[in-house]
Amino acid sequence: MRLGAARFVAGETLDDAIAALQRLNEQGLWANTTLLGEAVHDRATTQAVVGQYEQVLERIAAAELKANVALKLTHLGLELDEELAFENVKRLVERATELGTSIRIDMEQSAFVDATLSIYRRLREAGLDRVGTVLQAYLYRTPGDLDALLPLEPNLRLVKGAYLEPTAVAYPQKADVDALYGRLMERMLSGPGHTAIATHDETLIEHAIAYAQEHSVPRDRFEFQMLYGVRTQLQLDLARRGYKVLVATPYGPEWYPYLMRRLGERPANLLFFLRNALR
Ligand SMILES: Cc1cc2nc3c(=O)[nH]c(=O)nc-3n(C[C@H](O)[C@H](O)[C@H](O)COP(=O)(O)OP(=O)(O)OC[C@H]3O[C@@H](n4cnc5c(N)ncnc54)[C@H](O)[C@@H]3O)c2cc1C
Repeated sequence: MRLGAARFVAGETLDDAIAALQRLNEQGLWANTTLLGEAVHDRATTQAVVGQYEQVLERIAAAELKANVALKLTHLGLELDEELAFENVKRLVERATELGTSIRIDMEQSAFVDATLSIYRRLREAGLDRVGTVLQAYLYRTPGDLDALLPLEPNLRLVKGAYLEPTAVAYPQKADVDALYGRLMERMLSGPGHTAIATHDETLIEHAIAYAQEHSVPRDRFEFQMLYGVRTQLQLDLARRGYKVLVATPYGPEWYPYLMRRLGERPANLLFFLRNALR
């Protein structure tokens, strides 16, 4: 944590996370939380993760927080057995539904996209709608995935994409990713369902606002999402302008891969990390 993870992570315990969510709510921001962890390869650990997420949902409901949960299917056993991951996430979506909150399924490496979208579809077909997932603008396949999902009136978070992917599946140039993000965002905003515009890119954020105004997209049909510790002033400014802003606020002892992805996104973060390491 002293190396700099505390800038991006609420802390190592659920108490830390609940306190951070409370602070965000007091500032007029919504929040989600994630128990950090991925790539679990044994059934017993996935059961323990489900148990911890049940506690998270219960604490969110008990404190009446404006918050929900985002999780990774590999944390629930996707690499071991797709059916196990489905049953685990179904249990959590059912519990979230009982408690009046919701679950978002993060998108991981490209090898997991088919399974993730198939599990999302199965949950919706089982009549569960307090669940959303994520599309990544850097993947060539994403426009087709979006078209296939739109009839479900999906709740989708749109991101640029955080993993190192081969050029066979993803645009290598940032300019191409940004351009596709803009087009996907417009398609989502003018389609049915709910759109979470998850980016810190001010050009794209202002583009979304202008597009929504021009096309009379009601404000309750979309929201902005940013990461805990990133562009905090922009988060507050958008909330003051009357937009829903949700801050993704992870916690837990397994923060290392998450911190590495955040450092990779911006060279300046690496300097920040090195300064802390030296100190
Ligand atoms: C709420 C949320 C959920 C996400 N969920 C997923 C997911 O499920 N799957 C997935 O693959 N990816 C996910 N991501 C990560 C995403 O794919 C990008 O890697 C990340 O958001 C950086 O891209 P950007 O859209 O902010 O644009 P960029 O063009 O990378 O950044 C725009 C500006 O934002 C600022 N900025 C961006 N990142 C950082 C940072 N780490 N530290 C400091 N400043 C920064 C900089 O000022 C930069 O100039 C998520 C991102 C958010 C915000």
